[in-house]
Amino acid sequence: MRAIEAFITEKQDWIQAAQARQQRRAQQAQQQWQDGAHIPYLGKPLTLISDAEVQETHREAGHLVIPKVPLEQRQALVYQWYKDNARPIFSAAMATHFPYFERLGYQLPKLHIKLMKTRWGSLSTRGNMSLNLLLMQYPPQCLHSVVAHEFCHLVHMNHSNTFYALLSERYPQWRAADALLKQGALS
Ligand SMILES: [Zn+2]
Repeated sequence: MRAIEAFITEKQDWIQAAQARQQRRAQQAQQQWQDGAHIPYLGKPLTLISDAEVQETHREAGHLVIPKVPLEQRQALVYQWYKDNARPIFSAAMATHFPYFERLGYQLPKLHIKLMKTRWGSLSTRGNMSLNLLLMQYPPQCLHSVVAHEFCHLVHMNHSNTFYALLSERYPQWRAADALLKQGALS
């Protein structure tokens, strides 16, 4: 009997702890999208502001202004805004790093911007380069590091020493940039 009671108490504790954890997570999620929350943009925070008069998400000085929508719809708006602004930023980073590879005779890969769960970038043998939309949240050197990394895969389709030697030549700061990406690791 005692063993069963102990078992039940233990279970109740476990359930309560799980509930408390869930509540905390829901609260965090709510706070994350409230007015005044910090939205990372190229490594700097923008302050989120909702405005009933506003139709379209836009940046205004240090603010990201969104239409007034419920908290649970705000992430989609912010990610859409990242998406609407990513292409010229990502393309410019590609244009910065490509000339060397162009001289070697490679074709500029076609850019695809995606929300990816496990990688920051990838390059296919067919010449498609995918960059993670969430690079919009990180300092520009992170984007540059990923772009340089993927371009180096044009030459070496592996992570050999020669690959890293080329990367270190093309973008010497890659280690520090990759460390920043790891800190905000993909979840
Ligand atoms: Zn790689």
